[in-house]
Amino acid sequence: MTEHERLAALLFPDVTETVEDLEARFPARNLKEGARVTRFAPSPTGFLHIGGLFSALISKLNAATTGGVFLLRIEDTDKKREITDGVSEIIKGLGAFGIDIDEGVIGFEQETGDYGPYQQSRRAGIYHVVAKRLVEQGLAYPCFCSEETLSAIREEQEKAGTPIKGYFGKWARCRDLTFEQQRERIESGAPYTLRLRSFGSEDKRISFDDLIKGKIEMPENTQDVVLLKTDGIPTYHFAHAVDDHFMRTTHVIRGDEWISSVPLHIQLFKTCGFRVPKYAHISPVMKEENGGKRKLSKRKDPEAAVTYYAEQGYPKESVLEYLLTLANSNFEDWRRANPDAPQSDFPFNLKKMSVSGALFDLTKLTDVSKNVISRFTAEKVLADTLAWAKEYDPVLAELLGADEAFAKAIFSIDRGTAKPRKDIGKWNEVRDYAAYFYDALYENDLSALPENLTKAQCAEILSAYLAVYDPADDKDGWFARIKDLCEPLGYTPNVKEYKKNPDAFKGHVGDVSTVIRVAVTGRRNTPDLYSILQILGEQTVRARLNAAIEALS
Ligand code: GLU
Repeated sequence: MTEHERLAALLFPDVTETVEDLEARFPARNLKEGARVTRFAPSPTGFLHIGGLFSALISKLNAATTGGVFLLRIEDTDKKREITDGVSEIIKGLGAFGIDIDEGVIGFEQETGDYGPYQQSRRAGIYHVVAKRLVEQGLAYPCFCSEETLSAIREEQEKAGTPIKGYFGKWARCRDLTFEQQRERIESGAPYTLRLRSFGSEDKRISFDDLIKGKIEMPENTQDVVLLKTDGIPTYHFAHAVDDHFMRTTHVIRGDEWISSVPLHIQLFKTCGFRVPKYAHISPVMKEENGGKRKLSKRKDPEAAVTYYAEQGYPKESVLEYLLTLANSNFEDWRRANPDAPQSDFPFNLKKMSVSGALFDLTKLTDVSKNVISRFTAEKVLADTLAWAKEYDPVLAELLGADEAFAKAIFSIDRGTAKPRKDIGKWNEVRDYAAYFYDALYENDLSALPENLTKAQCAEILSAYLAVYDPADDKDGWFARIKDLCEPLGYTPNVKEYKKNPDAFKGHVGDVSTVIRVAVTGRRNTPDLYSILQILGEQTVRARLNAAIEALS
């Protein structure tokens, strides 16, 4: 036995498995050529951030479009920062947007897939197998330095003005302890971390091809970083190398705050004898503020939390559609050419992602959402609105739910036509959209009557219409009746004629129908008036016309 091997046996007396055993337990995946294995690896330390959802979506698309595997790994090695329900929030958040996983954590102590456990706190045994191997090879060593010693080293480095600070080379006091010194300290029960023995050199640089940012060159890692903390729990860096190797991840897609760690990560993969995965670093989602750009902030921006979208009632399809426009700038052209294609048909390409950070804009999201909702069926609009309203607007839920056929008729107006209306951007706009269909929400507001007519003229139009109104009319018959009203009252049914000779008339047919529209709905702008009258029904229409006539006189 070499001294390294004796040290390894001393540090890991209980580890009997070997790296080869792990290789056999987690064999190379049997996937078709070009299939990518990607993962979303959040820490359960707070709510799911829209940036997290974005990167999960990108990872998912990479796997899905190549026939690969997308997995969810929970990185819960920092128990101090973990929040209650952190894991279920992540699972719920992804589920709410239909980002389904192929493998990984699916619930409390529940997972699916052959490459687990997928929760780092349950993988200690695996990390220790690899750590033991590194010690046996002289590539890792125990470090007994206390926090105070580490700060003292730092202070000395400050004084000496060394360009690189940290635990490395001659500064790494525990790097060259003799086996006897190590044994004595271990046997006396002194706490220790396990450190990488880095063979990196200050004057060497490494380069790698980031699939989003392109070629990146950085100095090699020289730090003897901590692999296992004093409690035997791995650091993010070590867990990343071990997990992504044994989960057979091919593409590591993550936030670009990790770019500066890539030299270390590449070194770790190589030191462990693992193949280095491909990296793609996503720029953070940005927000425009005072003419500048800043990162979307967990603290300042409510829209940073994915729960915001559920509360506002943005359909998941809209949020995903919008995230796709942020992901690939050619998505919108593709959508115009394929208005009805499912999102999964879009040929997503990592290389077309923004290098500088996509700008997140709620107004744009709402516009995108209006398009998405305009292509929904009335049944879906009703079902989704009801589901939303049950949680966030019980009054609306009650009204819509009381007569679903009536509600469906409201959402059917102009739907399914070549030019569907785009009035609704999120479910919290439905209350306003549908208000005049419900007496409980309707306000008899006549302020939108045409300014060019007097109250008396408006009342005159309404009385005349009331006299001829027939709910049995079809749409053409109904409009013919409105045109017929015009001339006897001094309006023209012909808009062109009015424009040619405005002084000859009180107004045109548009004014006449506007007066009726405002009297019945309280609005100047609505979907098709004939449909509205049909849905409201004779009794309500007559009651509202009468009420308006009374209010005007
Ligand atoms: N747990 C890390 C984070 O949430 C994961 C980074 C990664 O995807 O490797 O930032």
